[in-house]
Amino acid sequence: MKTSIIAVGTELLFGQTVNTNATYLSKNLNLMGFDVMYHFVVGDNPARLREKIGQAYEDTDLVILTGGLGPTQDDLTKEMVADYFGAEMYFDERAADEIRAFYASRGGKMPENNLKQAYLPEGCTPLYNASGTAPGFAYEKNGKVVMCFPGPPRELKWLFENGGRQYLEQFMDKKMYYKVIRTIGRGESDLEMDLMPLIDGQTDPTIATYAKEGECTIRIASQRDTIEEARAAVDEMILKVNELIGEYIYSYDDEELDEVVVRLLKEKHLKITSAESATAGLFASSIAEVPGASESLRYAYVTYSNEAKIALGVPAETIDTYGVVSPQTAEAMALAAKAASGADMAISVTGFAGPEADEGHEAGEAHIGYAFGDKSGSVPVFTHRNFRNWNRNYFRLRMLRTAYQLLTAE
Ligand code: AMP
Ligand code: MG
Repeated sequence: MKTSIIAVGTELLFGQTVNTNATYLSKNLNLMGFDVMYHFVVGDNPARLREKIGQAYEDTDLVILTGGLGPTQDDLTKEMVADYFGAEMYFDERAADEIRAFYASRGGKMPENNLKQAYLPEGCTPLYNASGTAPGFAYEKNGKVVMCFPGPPRELKWLFENGGRQYLEQFMDKKMYYKVIRTIGRGESDLEMDLMPLIDGQTDPTIATYAKEGECTIRIASQRDTIEEARAAVDEMILKVNELIGEYIYSYDDEELDEVVVRLLKEKHLKITSAESATAGLFASSIAEVPGASESLRYAYVTYSNEAKIALGVPAETIDTYGVVSPQTAEAMALAAKAASGADMAISVTGFAGPEADEGHEAGEAHIGYAFGDKSGSVPVFTHRNFRNWNRNYFRLRMLRTAYQLLTAE
């Protein structure tokens, strides 16, 4: 079914609110096999809203609206749907009872204007909303469907999962299954070239690559009559993908790098530490973002200055002889952090984040040190310096990725 999503709200046009509802709906509708063709955003303006509803209904078979179902004067979505189809509004007793009960359960007095939310277009299928006050609904005409959901993302999700999805299932012809593979260490265009024999002429499963913050993800999707068939087609394709680019894959389940690293550390009962200069704790903080990281991360060091590095245990001669941004200092930092913390694995980062050159070094040079068990060493990272587009943060993220790459390879 060709599908449009219309997000309603002037705050979206002003950039005050991010249109997360469109992302959520698109993801879920695509998974169910609906062809999402358009995303629209329209402000709280009755004429433009009505026009957009009409256009979307003409052009597609399923129109999903979010927002504008609330009690205030500017909430006009369902009124415009009713107006477009020439339907009257009726007072839905059950919705009204639920709105009253919602306020009663919170011990509050219901502002009278809240009952505005109990009016729905005649002939619709109500979608009662136990997570808030505004009900949603589906309105079917000539084999096409318009559905309205509340704007607050939490309520949208609740109502989509508790009523919306079940209602939509009757229109699903194909079932979709997909997997997202995450890779690191190879650029998007290289990966695409590697996968060309599979991508070329392939209609199902489809293979799509996306570059994302220094990583690359690959989405493999299939639409078949049954979910089992779709899953089998995707699994078979994953085996082929694995043959071509297996060495770059770090997750077959759309996991974040830090999640994978923490999971592996936990599985192997390993403790990790870091000594960070240029990234000043970014690595440690990204590890700590993963729930349960405390089992693996007990100490981490930010050693921004030379004194700090020396205090941690880096020999002053190493810094003097080779420089603070050098393979030798990086390795010494990792060894010192490992020794000081008693961890099994240590990562270190030292680099020139720029934008200015430092001690005669170009910004963009960095070294990632490691000390894993009784192995230690370092790898260089050179970010090509593009003068118009220098970005310290990008550089720091690049270093972070390299550290994770080392860890996942281990
Ligand atoms: P409304 O139903 O239009 O009154 O919206 C209620 C709340 O949901 C407001 O805080 C909106 O900013 C938020 N909201 C509305 N539409 C969206 C959307 N498309 N994405 C994320 N939040 C939204
Ligand atoms: Mg609104």
